[in-house]
Amino acid sequence: MNFLSELTGCFAQPAAENPTVEMIEAAFRHHGLPWRYINCEIAPEQLGDAVRGARAMNWAGFNCSLPHKVAVIDHLDGLGESARIMGAVNCVVRRDDQLIGENTDGKGFVQSLEEHISPAGKRVVLFGAGGAARAIGVETALAGATSITVVNRTAARGEELAALLSERTSAAADFVLWEGDFQVPPDIDIVINATSIGLYPDVSARLPLDTETLTSNMVVADVIPNPPRTRLVRDAAARGCTVLDGLGMLVNQGVIGIRYWTGQDVDPAIMRARLEQLFAPGE
Ligand code: NDP
Repeated sequence: MNFLSELTGCFAQPAAENPTVEMIEAAFRHHGLPWRYINCEIAPEQLGDAVRGARAMNWAGFNCSLPHKVAVIDHLDGLGESARIMGAVNCVVRRDDQLIGENTDGKGFVQSLEEHISPAGKRVVLFGAGGAARAIGVETALAGATSITVVNRTAARGEELAALLSERTSAAADFVLWEGDFQVPPDIDIVINATSIGLYPDVSARLPLDTETLTSNMVVADVIPNPPRTRLVRDAAARGCTVLDGLGMLVNQGVIGIRYWTGQDVDPAIMRARLEQLFAPGE
């Protein structure tokens, strides 16, 4: 029996457009899906109440962003494989009566990557060791990457991520301290920027990388969604590399989330078009 007593609420939406809300609602509208995706600001001390509220109101699920990605785990019933390895959740899914934590950031990235190259058997250089790098590193390793070199400015964070990948996945991972312009070894297949370098408004910021070491057989991916054509994306394209911008990851994590919550496959092009209107108007 699925009986809900109606509860009609009224709350203020933040004035600024939230890109994730915009792209997901665009997909719902396009496909005529009877779902809504709304943004709620939750203070850390209210997180437990918020999850209980979502449970009580029969939400199909929700995304959570910083600072809740780790703390939310205490309020859930279980974790998917990659979320368990990362120790971080960005997407909660109701399955039967349980709330299960997943991490769709890395899955979204790998889905974008697989449109160009399969990570299986490949050698990867990963710049950064924060949340995005962790998600990408774990999911790329689970997708079969042979080796992952983590390059980070802060040694402790980089060493921790390399150790996590070595211990919890089948990839061989090592850490290189980022000093000066990094030289990409010629046998590398995939180069990923998972730092925040280049994010709006610091759009001219340069990744410390010797772009002369990028070769046309390499795939170069940037996580920065805004602006989509970062300096790295432009430099790598000029070197003849296959390039991936950060919109693909953002769109695909949304597509995967919608599939988890509603069982529906939506058109990623609709979501990408909405993000391009927000992040790259006129391009
Ligand atoms: P974190 O703050 O967790 O990590 C930031 C990383 O960037 C760290 O490794 C940090 O190094 C490094 N970094 C930042 N500034 C510099 C610098 N000047 N020089 C060298 N390294 C630097 O952030 P997240 O991992 O959560 O996010 C990173 C980026 O990924 C953000 O810009 C975000 O927008 C993007 N992102 C994109 C998504 C998408 O769907 N496209 C999804 C999630 C994130 P250190 O450890 O030394 O501080």
